[in-house]
Amino acid sequence: MEPRKILLLFGLFTAFLNVIGQEPPDRKQIIIVDPGHGGIDSGAVGINGLKEKDLTLKIAQAIVHYNKVLLNQQYDIYLTRYGDTLISLGHRTKLAKILNPKIFVSLHCNHADNPRASGLEVYVFNGAIRKQNETMGKIMDSYLQKQLGYRSRGVKRANFQVLRDNREVCPALLLELGFLSNKDEAMHLEREEKINALGLAILMGIKTIME
Ligand SMILES: [Zn+2]
Repeated sequence: MEPRKILLLFGLFTAFLNVIGQEPPDRKQIIIVDPGHGGIDSGAVGINGLKEKDLTLKIAQAIVHYNKVLLNQQYDIYLTRYGDTLISLGHRTKLAKILNPKIFVSLHCNHADNPRASGLEVYVFNGAIRKQNETMGKIMDSYLQKQLGYRSRGVKRANFQVLRDNREVCPALLLELGFLSNKDEAMHLEREEKINALGLAILMGIKTIME
């Protein structure tokens, strides 16, 4: 056989080995963002009439938007709902079981009888979770505090279903993004630029966690 043909065959053979031995091309990290409530479940209603279900969806949409325009779709972000629909808590975590995300972030707004209660809260599951999940909560908490200048109420532990059901699947955080029962915070959340700032800060918080 001509040396050129041998070389060609050798080249094809190596190319073949490369193909069969190759890892699939780098998959993007999957993130699930869960806008709390929806449909007939409005969640908390603010003193100014703002509904938690609308705010959580707008913040989630801002996260998706900034992932596209600022991060060039760095993450594959899935929402548990894309419209004003009621999705059961069980179905929200079922999505996580199917997609196997790097993190599940549930978005909520707070309400309290005390009209002066204010600030952000980050929740992790109150049972056994990996240390990594708690660290993620702390990173998110300090990131949001720094970026938004909100008062932080700290990382808390609770037995919320979306946290509990995800404990075997992926790290999960539940964010309470201000009190709708607090006049200042409810008015703050009326402004589109504040919603966008929250979405951006959460996205960059996730990015910080992933790095
Ligand atoms: Zn809620």
